[in-house]
Amino acid sequence: MPTSLRDLPADLSADVCIIGSGPAGATLARELAGHRLDILLLESGGLEYDPAAETLNEIESVGAPRILDQTIIRNRGLGGTARIWTGRCTPLDDIDHETRPWVCHSGWPIGPETLKPFLARARPYLGLAAPVREDADDLWAYTGLPAPPTRPDPALFLPCFWQFSRGRHPAEPVRIRDALLADSGHKLRIVTDATVTRLIPNREARAIAGVEAATPESRRHRIRARLVVLAAGGIENARLLLASRDVCAAGLGNARGLVGRFLMDHVRGGIAVFRPRDAGRLAPHFATRLVRGPEGTHLFSQGWRLSPALQAREGLLNGAFWLSELVSPQDPWSALKRLASGLSTGLADAARIAAHPVLLARGLWSSLGGSGAVPRRLAGLELNAMIEQVPDPESRVTLAERCDRHGVPLPRLDWRIDPAEPRTLRIAAERIRPVLSALGLPVPALADWVRAGDALPPDFADVSHHIGTTRMAADPARGVVDLDGQVHGVEGLYVAGSSVFPTGGHANPTLTIVALAIRLADHLAASASRGRREALSIAELG
Ligand SMILES: Cc1cc2nc3c(=O)[nH]c(=O)nc-3n(C[C@H](O)[C@H](O)[C@H](O)COP(=O)(O)OP(=O)(O)OC[C@H]3O[C@@H](n4cnc5c(N)ncnc54)[C@H](O)[C@@H]3O)c2cc1C
Repeated sequence: MPTSLRDLPADLSADVCIIGSGPAGATLARELAGHRLDILLLESGGLEYDPAAETLNEIESVGAPRILDQTIIRNRGLGGTARIWTGRCTPLDDIDHETRPWVCHSGWPIGPETLKPFLARARPYLGLAAPVREDADDLWAYTGLPAPPTRPDPALFLPCFWQFSRGRHPAEPVRIRDALLADSGHKLRIVTDATVTRLIPNREARAIAGVEAATPESRRHRIRARLVVLAAGGIENARLLLASRDVCAAGLGNARGLVGRFLMDHVRGGIAVFRPRDAGRLAPHFATRLVRGPEGTHLFSQGWRLSPALQAREGLLNGAFWLSELVSPQDPWSALKRLASGLSTGLADAARIAAHPVLLARGLWSSLGGSGAVPRRLAGLELNAMIEQVPDPESRVTLAERCDRHGVPLPRLDWRIDPAEPRTLRIAAERIRPVLSALGLPVPALADWVRAGDALPPDFADVSHHIGTTRMAADPARGVVDLDGQVHGVEGLYVAGSSVFPTGGHANPTLTIVALAIRLADHLAASASRGRREALSIAELG
């Protein structure tokens, strides 16, 4: 079981100190636990939801509108934000690793082949079955289901799919917290109520020496460690580096002023709408379904992505498309829910329920049957898009004047939307219509904002994918961490999580986060066994 920092002495030590217990930190800790290293995992929150811990996630937002209630965007607690994640997984596309002349600052310093073995090793951590590549043919090969009878023109769109993380049931994602607890023990000590307030380098700031952590009552502890890994999420990783200013006024690892820059998320929202009755004809290309395969039943969702050829030809960002249901205001299940929760308008909702006995009976039947898919009365089927953002050095996290209760400055987010982003969405929406038509499929109506050529509507806010703020680059002039995830110029200090991604692709980030955490674990285990660094004494902790 985890120990609260309150119950531990003021001075602690470990071989590896990991900050944060989300998918990045938890995977790293569990991988390293098999390597005879003494690991201390520090988690700011506790075992259960704690509103006081959540207040430490407060942000200031001075750029494009963001969701300010951080409790729906990030979680402080064991398991991190994966306590509330949806579990949608897909890897980056090959093109995401490339330097694309039409996307400034694009290109990963590691290629898809480097990530491939780690994606395979990530599967058990996320409860995924074998097909985790982006190629839809993998899905048909795995399931034995017939591929759709037609395909979009590959010069324009390519079929793709997402697999949902499976926990106890196909519709419930893996809960990272429980797996982490099961693996904790003598060599993997989990410490809750431990908010790291400062990273402590040696006197020349060329190597890490340890960290300072605060209990919820702000009592300070020092943890000495040869290796420290920041796995606190894409905003907090940058915030902690910037706030560690004892030795370097600009923050640790920030000699080139790059920490916090290139803040990205995904731009996601509806670009067109089909009629509800189009669902059947679209299903071979855009279904979400439970699939029984050799590794059990898993939930998959099919869609299309922009072909690399179209991206290059039109100067577009990478993006993918899938269908979601637009529930009608007349939906009887929504009415039932309102009545049950006392929020109902009474007679009107009762009439909605009475008008749809067959739909209700079918919903009840599938709920009892465990499929979880309740048929709803629909107003339409929305064609959703998720695209990457342009890596922009002016889109960034800096420190605000205001501090949290431990005296650490809040992160100030100046999040930017590049004109290439609405342009990509608009062109994609326009190009997809003739492709659907050529296949004899229904053609959707463009969303009002797409047709009018307007800016992104307000519901295209951030989607909790915090990318790029400590980006990876071989050259310290271009990124914060090197190819191993070590902060340039600060030996022993590493970063895990989507903050190291140089670009985000259209993929939800967690599968790549977990794959990179496993890769980092291999690196740390190898370097620890080589005994590259001597432990520093408490006296040297500045
Ligand atoms: C509603 C929702 C749905 C999502 N759905 C998906 C999805 O379908 N697919 C997908 O890929 N992603 C999804 N995500 C995003 C996903 O949750 C994140 O990509 C993932 O959790 C990031 O992992 P992480 O370990 O880097 O950070 P986090 O999970 O945020 O974990 C960071 C941890 O660090 C701790 N911490 C922070 N600061 C400190 C500090 N100073 N000291 C000590 N500890 C600290 C935090 O308490 C937290 O436990 C979703 C997110 C949300 C909110």
